[in-house]
Amino acid sequence: MTVHQKPVARRILDLKDPSLLVAQAYVAGEWISAPDGKTIAVTDPFDGALIAEVPDLGPEVVRRAIDKAHEVQKEWAARTAKERSQILKRWHDLILANADDLALILTTEQGKPLAEAKGEVLSNAAYIEWFAEEAKRINGDIIPPARGDQRIVVMKQPVGVCAAITPWNFPNGMITRKAGPALAAGCTMVLKPAAQTPLSAFALAVLAERAGVPKGAFSVVTGDAAPIGKEFCHNPKIAKITFTGSTNVGRWLMKEAGDSIKRLSLELGGNAPFIVFDDADLDAAVEGAMISKFRNAGQTCVCANRIYVQDTVADAFVEKLAAKVEGLKLGRGTDAGVTQGPLIDDRAVIKMEEHVADALAKGGKLVAGGKRSGLGGTFFEPTVMTGITQGMKVAKEETFAPLAPIIRFKDEAEVIAMANDTEFGLASYFYARDMSRVWRVAEALESGMVGVNTGLLANEMAPFGGVKQSGLGREGSKYGIEGFLEIKYVCLSGI
Ligand code: NAD
Repeated sequence: MTVHQKPVARRILDLKDPSLLVAQAYVAGEWISAPDGKTIAVTDPFDGALIAEVPDLGPEVVRRAIDKAHEVQKEWAARTAKERSQILKRWHDLILANADDLALILTTEQGKPLAEAKGEVLSNAAYIEWFAEEAKRINGDIIPPARGDQRIVVMKQPVGVCAAITPWNFPNGMITRKAGPALAAGCTMVLKPAAQTPLSAFALAVLAERAGVPKGAFSVVTGDAAPIGKEFCHNPKIAKITFTGSTNVGRWLMKEAGDSIKRLSLELGGNAPFIVFDDADLDAAVEGAMISKFRNAGQTCVCANRIYVQDTVADAFVEKLAAKVEGLKLGRGTDAGVTQGPLIDDRAVIKMEEHVADALAKGGKLVAGGKRSGLGGTFFEPTVMTGITQGMKVAKEETFAPLAPIIRFKDEAEVIAMANDTEFGLASYFYARDMSRVWRVAEALESGMVGVNTGLLANEMAPFGGVKQSGLGREGSKYGIEGFLEIKYVCLSGI
């Protein structure tokens, strides 16, 4: 019988189904604590209160999860696509049925406003539904042969056991977009969620188990990241690593996993330009900038990091943006009307402070915000700065916080050069009406995704991912399953 009722330090009140709140890891189909009893504290970023203590597992337990994932993978892949699809569909339906609880767990461990958390749960459940359908469309090919007595057959097969590593900023969504395609393809998965937000991952595993995902096909392990990462990179039973997180950790994984030539998907950091041309609908651009920049308190890989505004409309844009920013309401994510929660931890606040100080020292000006909020903890005032130039930290590094730095530009050529002057290439955005400009700029921006007259890009039907040092591979869309499949060519001869 499954046991996952280890008491948590603080009950999350109002859960309709309290059994979704689990403080044990899900290893090889069993809910377990660490053999030596070691734990990691999970705290509420609103006030630092302890929510739960989750297992601090060493590599030997992780190895057990990998062994089991390896053992059951062939059986899982041998099921019909329709059968895998039905199980994924049930998982999707259970996520929707429990969306309120999943959102509450997410907000309590991550801090974002409840409405955003619910949006994350619902919009990312859609990846499981999408890949449940794609499972049935893993089609091969028959290619015209080179010789009359031969046939060229191409089949697609699952890569095998996948290791997934996910960040804290979307504790639910970063998992469904990896587990959905992996399981649909016939792969199995061992997931290590971020230490700050394991409870969303455990809750998803409870629902996966209820949906009928076989024991061991989807494990969730928690513990010290580096030794677990090393195990993933060097264990010969792991065929692929799918990672979302910072570029530095992605680079390290790429080096470590290089020894055994593992398949890799990397969704890494960004430094998105958000460009407002003089022919843009300014109100729409301000709306887009608010969503892109301040959603999740600016802790989004695709969020606008640098806002470029054409000289002639810059003053009007800044005035409108500052007015909107004044309207943001900071507070506990579960409180009504709150639109910005705390930052994840003090390190995030210190980085924001450094970026603001650097900009001020080099001639930047504050239009709104600029300091820690009176609410204390890790709250930071939503901030707008002008007088920003390319040499400042805010323009070069991912701030990952609620800071909107405004850079003025003269013309299209200048802004494209500035926008592309970065090693990152995840998302870009621009607002313009002229159709030939729309084509030109969309083609010229060096990023995996371009939002034209929108500040929101991600959905399950579109390929999400970056170029340059923002990563490898795509999640979502018909392309998102390809990274979990190998191509096998069969030469039929003597026909
Ligand atoms: P991070 O790289 O510090 O951590 C991400 C994950 O990697 C966590 O689970 C962490 O425990 C793990 N990790 C850390 N060191 C590791 C190691 N040595 N071996 C194995 N795993 C290790 O990133 P973060 O601070 O959690 O997340 C923020 C970053 O993620 C930002 O740079 C953001 O842009 C990026 N991100 C990218 C996307 C995308 O789709 N491109 C989406 C969300 C976040």
